[in-house]
Amino acid sequence: MQSTETTFSFSDLAISPPILQAIREIGYEIPSPIQAASIPYLLAGHDLLGQAQTGTGKTAAFALPILNGIDLERREPQALVLAPTRELALQVAEAFQSYARHLPDFHILPIYGGQSMDAQLRHLRRGVHVIVGTPGRVMDHLRRKSLSLDSLRTLVLDEADEMLRMGFIEDVEWILEHTPPQRQIALFSATMPEVIRKVAKRHLRSPKEAKIEAKTATVEAITQRYWLGSSAHKLDALTRILEVEDFDAMIIFVRTKVLTEELAEKLEARGYSAAALNGDMSQALREKAVDRLKKNTLDILVATDVAARGLDVERISHVVNYDIPYDTEAYVHRIGRTGRAGRKGQAILFVAPREKRMLSAIEKATRQRITEMRLPTHQDIAERRVEQFKAQVMATLEEEDLEFFRRLVQQLGREQGLSPTDIAAALTFLVQKDRPLIPDEKPAPAEYTPSSREPQKKFRDSEPRDKKHKRKEREDGGVLYRIDVGRNDGAAPKDIVGAIANEADIPGSSIGHIKLYDDFSTVSLPADMPKKSLKRLEKVWIVGKPINIRLWTGDAPAAPAFGKPKQKKGYPKKNG
Ligand code: AMP
Repeated sequence: MQSTETTFSFSDLAISPPILQAIREIGYEIPSPIQAASIPYLLAGHDLLGQAQTGTGKTAAFALPILNGIDLERREPQALVLAPTRELALQVAEAFQSYARHLPDFHILPIYGGQSMDAQLRHLRRGVHVIVGTPGRVMDHLRRKSLSLDSLRTLVLDEADEMLRMGFIEDVEWILEHTPPQRQIALFSATMPEVIRKVAKRHLRSPKEAKIEAKTATVEAITQRYWLGSSAHKLDALTRILEVEDFDAMIIFVRTKVLTEELAEKLEARGYSAAALNGDMSQALREKAVDRLKKNTLDILVATDVAARGLDVERISHVVNYDIPYDTEAYVHRIGRTGRAGRKGQAILFVAPREKRMLSAIEKATRQRITEMRLPTHQDIAERRVEQFKAQVMATLEEEDLEFFRRLVQQLGREQGLSPTDIAAALTFLVQKDRPLIPDEKPAPAEYTPSSREPQKKFRDSEPRDKKHKRKEREDGGVLYRIDVGRNDGAAPKDIVGAIANEADIPGSSIGHIKLYDDFSTVSLPADMPKKSLKRLEKVWIVGKPINIRLWTGDAPAAPAFGKPKQKKGYPKKNG
C-alpha cells in the first residue's frame, strides 16, 4: 500500500524510455498512489485486484504496464480492456494513445455498440495491439471470430462494479472464459461487492491487492465548498470566483507541471499576480516564488502536490482544487495549506460530474459536509466591482494629496459650465474602461443543480446496442462535431478555437475538448449553440481548407485507431 507521500518517480519503475518520455511531456510528476501500488505488480506479471475510482489515475495504472509489454512487431490483440460504457472505452483509448505517442505504429481500437460493424471489422483485419471495448460488442466479435484472443497477454476489467450494475457481468465472465489460460488479469473497481469478489476468486490467480485507503482527518478551521461543473468551464469558473472572493493569498492545485504554467500565465494575463510552482523548477526558483508570496509581491501560486508539500505561508486564505486530488489524503494535505497559525481558511473544490464519488469519499474522510457553491453571476461581479471602486475612491481621498487635481476640476467646471457630478462621471468612465464596472454579459458556465448529487449513471451513456447513433451530449455539456482539418493540414487547437469563436460568435471558453487526428479533428461545442452559429460555421475555412463541420457519428474513418491525438491543452484559449 502506497500513500500520497509516494516519493519514487516514474523513472524508478521499470518502464521503457519512450513511455517515460511521453509521461514527462504530458507533465505527470510522480505516480499517483494507485499507480504506485499497481504498476510494480503488473510489470511483474501478477494478477491484480485494484480498488480505485475515476480520478485516481487508474487508467495509467494499467495502461503503462500494458504498453511496456507490447510487442509492436506483432499486430495482434495482446491486451483487452473491458469498460462499461462507450464513453469510458473512448477515454481509455485516448489515454493509451497519449502514453504511446513515441511507440511507432502502435494501434489501439475502441469497439462498442452503436458504431458501424464494418469499420470495426476493417480495423480488426488490419491488426491492432490493444482493444478497448464494451462487453456486448466484444462478445459479438468473438462469436463471429472476427476477434481472436489467442495472443492475449493481459485483460483489464475497468470499473467492474459499473459493469455489474449495468448487467454486463455474465458477458464479462463469458469473455473471461474465452481467453487463453496464461493471461494476466487486472480488475479495477471503485467498490468491491460480493459478486465482483466472486468473479475475482474464480478467474484471478493469487491476485495482489492495490487499494487507496481513506484515512480520516480533521480540518476544522477550514470552510469547504465545491463547484460542480465540466472541465471545459473551469477557467471561467475560476475567474468568476477570483472576482468576488475576498482572498489574501491563494494556492491553486492542478495535476500537471504543464498546467501550472499555463494557468499561471492565463491568470497573469487577466491581471493577477500569479506564478507556477512545480517539481521541474529548481529549489532556488521555488523558494523565490514562496518568498514572494510571503512578502505580498505575489498573490497566487498554481502548484502541483509535490511542489507544494510542506508549504507554510500564513497569508494563504484560499486553496482552490482546480483539479481534484487523487485521494482524500492528498485533499487534506492540500487544504491544510490554508487555515495556518490560527487563521480561518477557505477551500474550494472543482468537481466534474464523473468525479462525484471522490467528493463523497472526501466528505467521509474529513467527516464534514462540503457545501455546494453557486458561481458568482454577472450581477454579483458588477456589484463587487462597484464596491471596490467606491473603496478605492475613499482610500484615494484619504491617502493622496489632491490639491492640484481639485483645482483642475474646478477650473474645468468653470470653463465649460459643468457640474462636479458630470466631471466625476466622465472620469469614472475613463478609469473603468479596461475593466468595466459592468462587465460584458457572458453566459454562466454550465452548472449542475444540487439535485445532481445523485448516482453517476445520469452522466453515463449506456451502450445503445445497435441503435442508430443520436446527437449526443457529452460530459462537458457539449455536443461533438467533426471537422475536416487535422494535424496533417498543420492545424493546431488554437486555430480551431480562434476560427470557431470568431465565426460562431461563441466565447472560446465554451468550446470544449478538441482532438486532432491526422486528417480530421473533433470538437465539442455547446449543446445550446444557436442554429445560425452552426450555419456560419459551415462556411468556415481553417488553414486554407473548408472545415465541412458536421455532427460526429463515431463511425469510420473517425475511430482513433488511425492516428494519435495530440497532447490536449488543459482548456481552450479565451477569445480565440
Ligand atoms: P483516471 O483516474 O485514470 O481517469 O485519471 C484521472 C486524471 O488524472 C487524468 O486526467 C489523467 O491524465 C491524470 N493523471 C493520471 N496519472 C497522473 C499522474 N501521475 N500525475 C498527474 N496526473 C495524472
